[in-house]
Amino acid sequence: MSNTETEDNFREHLGNQTTSGKRIWLYPKIIKGRLYKYRTYLSWFYLLFFFTGPFIKINGYPLLLLNVIDRQFVIFGQPFWPQDFHFLVLLLITAIVFIVLFTVIYGRVFCGWVCPQTIFLEMVFRKIENVIEGNSIKQKKLDAMPWNREKITKKTLKFFAFFGVSFLISNTFLAYIMGWENLWSKISGPFMDGLTALFGLLVFTAVFYLVFAKVRELVCIMICPYGRLQGVMLDPNSMVVAYDDERGEPRGKIRRNQDQSEKGDCVDCNLCVDVCPTGIDIRHGTQLECVNCTACMDACDSVMSKIKKPKGLIRIDSVNNIRNKTGFRFTPRIISYTIVMVLLMGVFTYLLASRTDVEAHVLRIPGQTFFEEPNEIISNMYNLEMVNKSFDDKRFSIQPITPGFELVVADSNASLQANSEMKRVFLLKKSKQSIEGYKQPVAVQIFIDNRPLRKFETTFFGPIVIKE
Ligand code: SF4
Ligand code: SF4
Repeated sequence: MSNTETEDNFREHLGNQTTSGKRIWLYPKIIKGRLYKYRTYLSWFYLLFFFTGPFIKINGYPLLLLNVIDRQFVIFGQPFWPQDFHFLVLLLITAIVFIVLFTVIYGRVFCGWVCPQTIFLEMVFRKIENVIEGNSIKQKKLDAMPWNREKITKKTLKFFAFFGVSFLISNTFLAYIMGWENLWSKISGPFMDGLTALFGLLVFTAVFYLVFAKVRELVCIMICPYGRLQGVMLDPNSMVVAYDDERGEPRGKIRRNQDQSEKGDCVDCNLCVDVCPTGIDIRHGTQLECVNCTACMDACDSVMSKIKKPKGLIRIDSVNNIRNKTGFRFTPRIISYTIVMVLLMGVFTYLLASRTDVEAHVLRIPGQTFFEEPNEIISNMYNLEMVNKSFDDKRFSIQPITPGFELVVADSNASLQANSEMKRVFLLKKSKQSIEGYKQPVAVQIFIDNRPLRKFETTFFGPIVIKE
């Protein structure tokens, strides 16, 4: 069943399905137009960044490390700790709002131009497939032919090529999680030590292989939540890849000795459908499956050039703009999203700028009140927790601010190592005679490199002393 057979009921099923729900395997043509060239350049940059990322170091730290297992996170050479979780939440909210806002204005450009799924599928795996099996017509023929020597050779070659690239992606992916030095030590170390890493590598490789060899466009159409939200984010003012039906219709093939004056510019060549990686016909209008890859724009522009008509029959434009010939307008939705975005960015920037290198917390040891020591001394025990998020070792000290207290901390000369946590127990002591009640407030000051970092107020417990 061809895609054109679905013309009247295209919204009732996906572009890569028959009306009964059976998947149609797609053989999109690669069309090398102006936009494809830009996408290729962008993909080179992206792939270079992706594969070299784990090896790039800033101040001795990786560019990006997302070690969930050991709770080590480095973003652009800046270490983040689980205590910085609020940054991550805020960053995610900001990113989501940004993507929504961006989608409202420019449609789903992210999917076709930046999303790793599209970049790897279209710019890596699809190209390998074309080299091994030939163009889309040859691929179709190969799939239809019985298993013979040619088919077995090409399919085997493709399997190993796809598996090899998936393995490479998997290694890089794991290097972002555990650091490449760590990964390499597992790979090059004793076999049994690296078994878990090998298992992880093979699982990731299998997932990547399945995604790029089998699942393909289904990720964008059915699995990706962003894709499924397009219906609520786009409106007639959104800039999307759109067919100018005012100009293109009534469509029709060019026939010799026939008056073409009543016809629109679309010559019904179907090339825009043949190149579409999600199998849709953009001439039906904006559809959920469209990932804004702009391949149909390149295809149609090449046709328009041949028939000497202006390019841009399929272009980035809004439905309203095509209907009314009005320019881009700021809708209330765009304005409100922009305000939210600016506010979030402001809060995020403030939090980032006010983030201190060292974080400290003082807490009473749970379940304990006070100890009576010899010489009429009462003591309370506290936990001091510190995180040094910087690249340098720091010296710390702690002193009571409230008069009448003595503070004793173990190993007070120890330094706070760079990029590490430290826990200490300390005692606050006071003479029994000066106790002012069962419970009294007390304050301590923490110094880092002799500079005050933070003041903590806590509670000191003591016995009820009946004074004569
Ligand atoms: S309709 Fe055009 S832009 Fe949309 S996915 Fe298909 S080829 Fe890409
Ligand atoms: S490529 Fe252009 S001319 Fe050809 S069918 Fe599509 S819209 Fe019409």
